[in-house]
Amino acid sequence: MQRSIQYGSEEITYTLRFSKRKTLGISVHPDRSTEVNAPEGSSLEKVEEKIRKKAAWILKQQDHFLSFEPRNVTRKYISGESHLYLGRQYQLKLIQSPDNSVKHTGRYFEIRTQDSTKAQFLMEHWYLEKSKVWFQTIAEPLLERFKKHNVNPSKIEIRKMQYRWGSCSPKGRILLNPELIKAPKACIEYVIIHELCHLVHRDHTKAFFDLQQREFPEWKKWKSKLEQLLA
Ligand SMILES: [Zn+2]
Repeated sequence: MQRSIQYGSEEITYTLRFSKRKTLGISVHPDRSTEVNAPEGSSLEKVEEKIRKKAAWILKQQDHFLSFEPRNVTRKYISGESHLYLGRQYQLKLIQSPDNSVKHTGRYFEIRTQDSTKAQFLMEHWYLEKSKVWFQTIAEPLLERFKKHNVNPSKIEIRKMQYRWGSCSPKGRILLNPELIKAPKACIEYVIIHELCHLVHRDHTKAFFDLQQREFPEWKKWKSKLEQLLA
């Protein structure tokens, strides 16, 4: 049963299930979906009261995943279509040529190929190559800066994730979504700093946000930029 409650300006939507259990359990998944398992026979009022009590926690968990809803934009990869790179829009220009290459010039992405059905593959490959270079370049000074907190991330890796911008494992492996290459550099910086802060503080506690605030005072601005841009 799909239900929702209003909490301040936020709406919390959840799936409610009843089962043979003694207490109410709430779980938040990486795609932000929220599941509430209630003991059989409990009233909706009671359930809602419990959810309301845990609302701040639920919102925090949803936020924890630095998640986004994948946009249902169908890209055609044809001339004239605009595509993002580091926060800017560029127009595709398909050029008949045996090259199979992508060139980024002024206002355009020039895709050279004989076979227009290859355009998407060529663009995605180009983005991935750029991600490797840029993520590393942006991360390097940040990793250096975080050494003062005694953190030593083992690796920065690029991983396609459906709902997340980034994540970090307890062992200090930081994963970044290659889609980030479409966002402004400061957004990429924000995601990396966010994950580095998690190496110091695992959860979204006050200490975590204080650290994030110190390390990147403009984080709120870039977080919402990121959400507007691609979410
Ligand atoms: Zn987080």
